[in-house]
Amino acid sequence: MAAERHDSAALEAASTLLGRLGLDEPPVKPGMVLEELGLEVGTLPSFDLERLDPEQLQLFGSVKGLLSPSESKIYVSEELVSKQERWVIFHEGAHAEIGWHTEILYLDNEYTLGPAVKEQMEKEANGFAAHLQFFGPRFATDAREVPFGIASIRSLADRYGTSFESSLRHYVETRQEQCICAVFRLGRHPDGSRETLTFQYFVKSAGNRAFWRFPCKVGEALPMDDPLVILLNEGKLTGNEIHQDTRYDLKTETAYLEEAFCNGHSVFLLVRKL
Ligand SMILES: [Zn+2]
Repeated sequence: MAAERHDSAALEAASTLLGRLGLDEPPVKPGMVLEELGLEVGTLPSFDLERLDPEQLQLFGSVKGLLSPSESKIYVSEELVSKQERWVIFHEGAHAEIGWHTEILYLDNEYTLGPAVKEQMEKEANGFAAHLQFFGPRFATDAREVPFGIASIRSLADRYGTSFESSLRHYVETRQEQCICAVFRLGRHPDGSRETLTFQYFVKSAGNRAFWRFPCKVGEALPMDDPLVILLNEGKLTGNEIHQDTRYDLKTETAYLEEAFCNGHSVFLLVRKL
């Protein structure tokens, strides 16, 4: 698994915690984690961003959660929806569970740390949170027992209580087949009549060592004659429907299975080499 390569310490800590929770089945609920770690939750009032000075704005403008080791408390931002809140609790829980994080956060907070330390800490906390929410390797194992595709990812996300987008990424990252997922943000064409898609990112599978030609840059809008944009404007990506297609690339003589799905904010594309 991609995550396992760079932060085995975080994964070890998460596995230990999963063991202590003694759960047989997902989902891992935030309440269980808080109880096991002896932490409470408080809410962080939404900051009135207009009243912060530039330095404060930089520090606190994007705060979603904070761990206060001295109070044994995780503060979460008021405006989070439940799946984000769970993620923030798991992430902040990592700072409480991993020894060197807690030591540093006694003296500082994660928004005032130096960039190198912060990066290492955040990477570990995110690895820890992912490992908890996907129940260690269980999500990937379960995924192998159901047919490949978006419909399976949606039902796995329901079972694990995870967001569709993070489930899709994790699903692709832990596959052995050659596949990718790409995420596009919905927008409006300046002439107001049509919808547009802006490329956000793509993720490759672990088994995907081959080079994938991906013809757009982050933040770039797809051309209006792109097949995905055409589908969108023909109304074929509405109502949670999964659009499936097989495409044959003449240049590389390769067939691809493509599935697309729109959740009202983003369009998700899952591509598998056949
Ligand atoms: Zn953090």
